[in-house]
Order: sequence, then C-alpha cells, then structure tokens
Amino acid sequence: MTPLAAEALRVAAARLAVAGVSDPERDAQVLLAHALDVPRHRLRDALAAPLGQAAQDRFQRAVQARASRQPVSQIIGRRAFWKHEFEVTRDTLDPRPETETLIEAALERPFRRVLDLGTGTGAILVSLLAERPQAGGTGTDISQAALDVAARNAARLGVVADFVRADWFAGVTGCYDLIVSNPPYIALAEMDALSPEVRHWEPRNALTDEGDGLGAYRLIAAGAASHLAPGARLIVEIGPTQAAEVAAIFRLAGFPETGIRRDLDGRDRVIVAQWPG
Ligand code: GLN
Repeated sequence: MTPLAAEALRVAAARLAVAGVSDPERDAQVLLAHALDVPRHRLRDALAAPLGQAAQDRFQRAVQARASRQPVSQIIGRRAFWKHEFEVTRDTLDPRPETETLIEAALERPFRRVLDLGTGTGAILVSLLAERPQAGGTGTDISQAALDVAARNAARLGVVADFVRADWFAGVTGCYDLIVSNPPYIALAEMDALSPEVRHWEPRNALTDEGDGLGAYRLIAAGAASHLAPGARLIVEIGPTQAAEVAAIFRLAGFPETGIRRDLDGRDRVIVAQWPG
C-alpha cells in the first residue's frame, strides 16, 4: 500500500525522536521536502498525496541517515550561510550561523586581497568576495576534497578565487590586507562532549587541534607577519571561552591592538587584530 506523505512524515518524525534528534518534526519535514524535491514551504500541498516509490526510497534513506545522526546539511548536501546556499559534504565543516559574526566584522572595512585559512566549504571567502566584487582572494585547506567543494561553491556563485592546498601558511605566498580563519579550536578534552552530529560526522581536523584548542591560533599568529600588508587585519573565529588567550597570542606576535566581537547569543566569537600600519 502506498502511504500518504503525511503518514510517512509522522512515522519518520517518531523514528527521529527515538534516535535522539533534537527537532525531529522539523528535520523530517526538511528531509521529506528533499525527497520530493519541493521547497519546504510547498510541502503542505504534497502531504495529502501518496508518496511515490522513488520518493519513498529517497525519504527512507535520508531518515535512516538522520537517525544515525548525520547532519541534515550533509544529507541534503547544502546549507544556507550569510546570503547564499553552500554545498556541504563529509569533507567540510558545516557553515554555522555564528560564523556570520566574522563576515560582519570583515565587512566593517574595505579590503582588496583576502586570505581564508582552512576554507572548508569556502563559505567565508566566497561570502566576502561576493560582497566585494573588486577584491580578490585565496582559500587554503589541508584537504583537497574540501578545496574541491569550495571551488564548486565559488563557481556556482560566480565568484573568482584561488584555492591552494596548504597546511596553514606553508605554501602560501603573497601579501594580504585581510586574513580570516575559522580554525579548529575545540580542545581534545572537549571532543567527547560534542553532539554525535559533530563528533561522528564532521571532519575531525576541522574541529580540534588534538591539543588545547589554541594550536591553530599560535600557527596563524606566527605566520601572519610575513603575509600581512601594513595596517592589515587578521580576523578569526574563536570558542566563547578563548578570547583572552587568543588576544594574548596575537599581541605577543606583534599585533598592538585586538578587539572582540560577540555573536547573536552574546558569546565572544571573533577576534579582530590589526597589524601596525
Ligand atoms: N563551532 C564549531 C562547533 O562548536 C567548531 C568549529 C571550529 O572548531 N572552528 O561545533
């Protein structure tokens, strides 16, 4: 018997609830819209109709993946960030709303050449370049698979950027008036407390430095001097408890001034450092 879409939706939400998913109704709706290939706001019209075999199979696979706590964005293959949708895979950190704080900080001032260290999906770099069409930019990542995703995101959104495989600054040449990064900042000791979605499905080397969570900032601070133009800015995302430590690392590396930006939840989220001009 072919079930009505509404019935399939109800069964799926119940299954996701049992699996411990935090918003099972919403996720079931998003996955059903994906399986039916309709925008979510059109789902209501589809609910009274029978679910065809192909859509049923697609929905089952998606619900199964979500029940194993794969993030919705990885299952549907995309995530909205700032003003665009970005392709997301298992090789990339899922762009998060709090990272938009970094975009806002970067756009406070003009820039001509931007370097994004550990670009992942390219969400930060591509969003910045889409806002400033006169600027050029480079995104680096240690993962070639991530760089491929970033390059596809840039191309799809009509943004021209260079993508370079590099371990932080190793292999990066040139001078920039803006360097941005959302580096792995979760301490090894904090990894076990992450949700299964993050811990089991997102790329581990995008989350943690396997140490105290500050290792990437030390490397970025050490390498920045030879790649920053006079007066350039270095803007990084941080974990909410890391502001004082990251600011201290940057001041020690020669940045006279650092500032903190908070995210929408009021948590310290971004450090802005300025190179002497
Ligand atoms: N904000 C991410 C999380 O808490 C961590 C990303 C990162 O380390 N840059 O899941």
